[in-house]
Amino acid sequence: MISKIPKWVGDIAEGRILKPIELVQDEKLSANLRLCQFRGDVGSMDFQPGNGNAIRVSKTDLRNYTVFNYDKENGEFMVLYYLNNLGVGSKLISSLSKGDVLFMDFPRGKTCYSKAIKNQLFFGDETSLGLACSLHSRYRCNHHQYQFYLELDEENKHIPEALGLDNFEVFSKGAVERNTAALILPQVERQHIKNTRCLLTGNGRSVQLVRSLLKANRFAGEIYSKGYWLEGKKGL
Ligand SMILES: Cc1cc2nc3c(=O)[nH]c(=O)nc-3n(C[C@H](O)[C@H](O)[C@H](O)COP(=O)(O)OP(=O)(O)OC[C@H]3O[C@@H](n4cnc5c(N)ncnc54)[C@H](O)[C@@H]3O)c2cc1C
Repeated sequence: MISKIPKWVGDIAEGRILKPIELVQDEKLSANLRLCQFRGDVGSMDFQPGNGNAIRVSKTDLRNYTVFNYDKENGEFMVLYYLNNLGVGSKLISSLSKGDVLFMDFPRGKTCYSKAIKNQLFFGDETSLGLACSLHSRYRCNHHQYQFYLELDEENKHIPEALGLDNFEVFSKGAVERNTAALILPQVERQHIKNTRCLLTGNGRSVQLVRSLLKANRFAGEIYSKGYWLEGKKGL
């Protein structure tokens, strides 16, 4: 995705391909997680799990976020933001008040959900929680066997339960890097490997580590991987 645009391109795009969305409700789930409900003219958008929606976060910057809980009738949806306190996106979201309007692009990217794949293993961090919520309802509704593996800050360890997720295991940040094999492999081996998808999102470095490990251990299922952010890199 393009994360940098000339100001004039952004100005022309606003109202055309970037649709106005208004913040109607928000809740601070923790010091660095903000759950926002928006309303907008998004009836022509088709949100699928795994899509990213670019939001204009400054005159010249776009950042990707995940829309979930879309209520088509009222044009309302949720986005769960991780406030990294480093980037222009995080700083803008921290400063939002009810009634503020942002501009959002159409959803882009491949869907990561397949009804046909019975077993679903999900790996991610706070930036993946919106995706986890959108998949969770599908997993339950379509009777999948599923497990969430989440690497979270200490202060966010209670969040999966607060969001209504189940079948989750929480790791401390950095634990994956320190000891990936010991943490992940026994879990994966317990699952029925055939007809299994392993979905890896969140920290690009962790995604890479888990992916390499699965490959090295000849994981026979499908792997879908997409880093959502990378240390030191602006806008992924
Ligand atoms: C398809 C897709 C969907 C996404 N959905 C969501 C979502 O729903 N919610 C969400 O919060 N994020 C989501 N992200 C991730 C988000 O786009 C990035 O975290 C983005 O970098 C945030 O922009 P920023 O302007 O705050 O920081 P940037 O300007 O991009 O980065 C500034 C600095 O912050 C660091 N940084 C960025 N993110 C993190 C982080 N999570 N932890 C620690 N350091 C970080 C960067 O490495 C960089 O050094 C998604 C990304 C993709 C590709």
